[in-house]
Amino acid sequence: MTTILHDETDAAWQDDVRQGVRHVRDLERLPLSAAERGAAQQAAANHKVRAPKAYLDLIDWNDPADPIRAQVIPSPEELDEAEGELDDPIGDHAFSPVPRLTHRHADRVLLFPTYQCAVYCRFCFRKESLTSIGRGYTRAALEPALDYIAAHPEIREVILTGGDPLSLPDAALTEIRARIEAIAHVRLLRIHTRVPVALPSRVTPGLVEALQGRLMVTVVTHFNHAREITDATEAACAMLRRAGFVLLNQTVLLKGVNDSVEALEELCRELMYRLGVKPYYLHHGDLARGMAHRRTTIAQGQALVEVLRARLSGICNPVYVIDLPQGGGKVPLGPCHVEAHEGANWRLRGLDGKVREYTEVVGELDEGGSRKSAAGL
Ligand SMILES: *Cc1c(COP(=O)(O)O)cnc(C)c1O
Ligand code: SF4
Repeated sequence: MTTILHDETDAAWQDDVRQGVRHVRDLERLPLSAAERGAAQQAAANHKVRAPKAYLDLIDWNDPADPIRAQVIPSPEELDEAEGELDDPIGDHAFSPVPRLTHRHADRVLLFPTYQCAVYCRFCFRKESLTSIGRGYTRAALEPALDYIAAHPEIREVILTGGDPLSLPDAALTEIRARIEAIAHVRLLRIHTRVPVALPSRVTPGLVEALQGRLMVTVVTHFNHAREITDATEAACAMLRRAGFVLLNQTVLLKGVNDSVEALEELCRELMYRLGVKPYYLHHGDLARGMAHRRTTIAQGQALVEVLRARLSGICNPVYVIDLPQGGGKVPLGPCHVEAHEGANWRLRGLDGKVREYTEVVGELDEGGSRKSAAGL
């Protein structure tokens, strides 16, 4: 019974993939501009082209600036590589002790089961790895990374990323999950994926089953625009939530896609209200090659999140971060409400824009620590 059900749901997503763009030549079928057509061939040499039918169907082809189109259709601007752009924008390689693993923070690692994705985003910060490595999953390829995790008891959380881990077959996911779960010190499994956004039909009972086991699972989706929130993505997220997974979202701030208060506000609200997905990070655009045309300035990003902070509930607010080159990690860029500070005296800007004086009142902890005094705790 179960097998039959899985086969039917699998046929749906496989059709979605087959009828989408899988190779650069499939772009011929789309109503592209002459410039896009010309650029596609060259751009595809730098970064693969792929989008399932369900995602392409969201595009309004009459709008050259369509925010969905901008994310997956190669544009001539990609061929302009600006000075200062990097192959490895966040310094993954220097923190990779074994293939397919990055260990930058003591308690968590990135594990790359595959370097393939269900959709290739033009702005991807790992596009160099995806293009130059281009390898899928094999048991043997992951062996050194799993040995490394087993040998490092400080690792509590394994983050499957890539590539898109949910582009793998159920059997591969079951196997990967079981191998991670066999390492007793691992406590949390996290999955970074665009599948619920770009190929929601892939979220099937079989996929959910493959991920369920000993570990708490957090699925971090990657919605960039409210138009990506549809009945299909809603159904996919509902299935993941019913399975008990914690759902978070990371968004990349992209010029011409979501760099307005209105776009981000609607996205963050609908993520939470409709999908039950908590906005986690808003990423400043990484220094991936050929992406200058999609990057905003940091000041523009700060101005946007300042307004979001005032308008949206804490639950709907993401943290605006920049992932620093050379492995500096993701650091918050604001909004910062500290105007000045000297000793215990602070000048803090309220959500209404007015600056208030705030003086700290901090007492000593009583002997024995049983009562906390003037700190107001
Ligand atoms: C982003 C990232 C993580 C996860 O960071 P969180 O702040 O926990 O989401 C872990 N390791 C590396 C190397 C990363 O780039
Ligand atoms: S799905 Fe993620 S890893 Fe794959 S191309 Fe898009 S941003 Fe890059």
